[in-house]
Amino acid sequence: MPLRRLTTRLLLAVSVPLFLVTAMLLPVLHVHMETRINGLHTEARAVLKAGQEALTRDVNESLNSVLALAEMPALRHYLATHNTPTLIEQRYSLSEVTQLSHFLDTIISHHPRYTKLVLIDNQGNEVLRAPQSVAPGAQVTGRRHQEMDYFTEANKLLPRDLYLSSLGQDLHYELVDGDTIPVVNVSTPVFDAAGRRQGVVLLSLNWSYLTGALHQAMRLTHEGSALLVNAQGQWLLNNTTLPLGAAHFGVALATLAPAHWQAMAQRHQGFAVIDHQLLYFQTEDIRTQRYRSLAGNIYSDHVYYPWKLGVLLPKPTWRSLIDEETTVLWFLLLIYAVAVAFGVLWAISSQRQRTLRRAAQRHAIEVSDLYEHAPCGYHSLDESGRVVKMNRTELAWLGYSADEVIHRMAYRELITPDTRPAFDKAFRDVLEHKSGSAECSLLTRHGEQRHVMIQASAYHRNGRFVHSRATVFDLTERKQLEEKLREQAMTDPLTGVYNRRYLQTQAAAEIARSRRQHYAIALITIDIDHFKHINDEYGHDAGDDVLQAFTNTVIQLLRQEDLLCRVGGEEFAILLPNTPLAQAVQVAERIRQTVQTAPFKVHEARSERTLWLTASLGVTSVMAAESTLKAALKRADIGLYRAKEQGRNRVVVNDV
Ligand code: GH3
Ligand code: MG
Ligand code: MG
Repeated sequence: MPLRRLTTRLLLAVSVPLFLVTAMLLPVLHVHMETRINGLHTEARAVLKAGQEALTRDVNESLNSVLALAEMPALRHYLATHNTPTLIEQRYSLSEVTQLSHFLDTIISHHPRYTKLVLIDNQGNEVLRAPQSVAPGAQVTGRRHQEMDYFTEANKLLPRDLYLSSLGQDLHYELVDGDTIPVVNVSTPVFDAAGRRQGVVLLSLNWSYLTGALHQAMRLTHEGSALLVNAQGQWLLNNTTLPLGAAHFGVALATLAPAHWQAMAQRHQGFAVIDHQLLYFQTEDIRTQRYRSLAGNIYSDHVYYPWKLGVLLPKPTWRSLIDEETTVLWFLLLIYAVAVAFGVLWAISSQRQRTLRRAAQRHAIEVSDLYEHAPCGYHSLDESGRVVKMNRTELAWLGYSADEVIHRMAYRELITPDTRPAFDKAFRDVLEHKSGSAECSLLTRHGEQRHVMIQASAYHRNGRFVHSRATVFDLTERKQLEEKLREQAMTDPLTGVYNRRYLQTQAAAEIARSRRQHYAIALITIDIDHFKHINDEYGHDAGDDVLQAFTNTVIQLLRQEDLLCRVGGEEFAILLPNTPLAQAVQVAERIRQTVQTAPFKVHEARSERTLWLTASLGVTSVMAAESTLKAALKRADIGLYRAKEQGRNRVVVNDV
């Protein structure tokens, strides 16, 4: 049972702190999580802004470059000569063409952002290209562009208007350093000074380069991913491994990640939480004012613009939060460990306390029982002697209830007046010397007395007397026993009269009293005649019977104050206080006569017999000068001896 309780307590000790600590920490962790997510919002906004700025910068520079090229006089002129073939030889020398070609080559090779620059005449024929694929001055490439959107669309535009091809559409790819990369073709019409349309200038933007710049600007860690899709949801970045799967240029986001695409397609910009990921996005239209720079209007295929630029960040989880901040984990573990340790400590100590409390209770009950029911009385008195505590044993002795005594009675009221002084002295001793004892008698409610021994000591606190503590032993039985023993020691067991020792001690007191009160004391000694014969004739038991009957006969002839003692086998002595010798002689004579005439019955085997006895007596008086009975006994014995000598059955006085 205690083991089960300990187990329950241990379970509580572990689960309650865990619960409490968790309940306390959850809001903290929640706030921590909120802060983390807010941080991610800010980070995402910053990343998107950086990406957008990089895109704006690169696109704007590209647009300006195209416009600047379209307005270059040498380029305009070169195109014009091509539109009028007869003028070529006249107007342009080889060195001039070479120069222009080199110039354009330099522009392209110095700007890795561009893959090629192409001049196209009004008929769609390529007239110049950088980087050069044929030697300057040689026949032009003969490439024809009249079917391509960048030519057909740009050829319809006004000065400073631009056409943007859709990325990767209609085979807008280039082979750069062995890799096929998508390009964005930017084209604008070229007009001569007179405002006549002379052709189109085309600049192809290296999409890989732009993407690289975008990535660099967005500075995403390995956990975050940049997203760029066109209006159709087609992936516009290089091959990337996203948390959603492997994305490669042109793949449909709607297939790769339908939920993401749905979230992005519905709104212009925003934020969505999808599958443990945070998606931030905004719409980028490079045909808008932000990108237009010096341009008039920018045209393109509406199906593919605008784009959506986004960033995908993993949504922080408790796990990731803890993984990122291991100190938090340790801190949490520490708090849990401390809480659990405290709980376990509590369980063990409370179990121990419980055991101790039980033991203390048991002990208290035992002590209380010992106090209340001990075979002796216990009580405590205050300074005035009033009872402040008393055990049941003593209350039972006294016959009072606790309510009648405690705080109501002074203890001395319970003591007989004759023994009160002894108690008062003992109580004074307790107050003055810290301990005291007295033998006194308690007066019970029913008027009986109990002889007791009280032993008490003082209880002090902070040097001040608080109360006494006393044990009370009942001496009544002991007293009675003592009395009985004393009496037994002084009594003859066969006849029940006093023995010689008692006669001697009592005689001393009687002699002293007679001396004080001036009265005479007489002494008679008696010896039964021929007693041996009775023993011999009827047996020892019959002799005992005779001795008892003889004693009874003599006692009836005596006064209360006369003291009959058996001093030998069949010898008796009688001390007669306040009795002159003559009166004693009369008593002796009466005894002799009574014995002589009284029948003594003895029991034989089956019958009863009557015997007749005689006795001889010696009489003397105790002298005032004698302090013991010794001399008087001797005198009386002499009288007795003489009575025997004179024939027995007689009284002989032998006085001084
Ligand atoms: P006398 O007349 O000279 O006194 O003769 P006696 O036979 O009485 O002689 P004595 O006094 O010498 O003898 C006393 C006898 O009493 C001796 C003893 O056997 C007997 N006796 C003494 N004590 C007891 C007793 O307690 N019981 C009995 N049955 N006999 C006792
Ligand atoms: Mg004798
Ligand atoms: Mg005798």
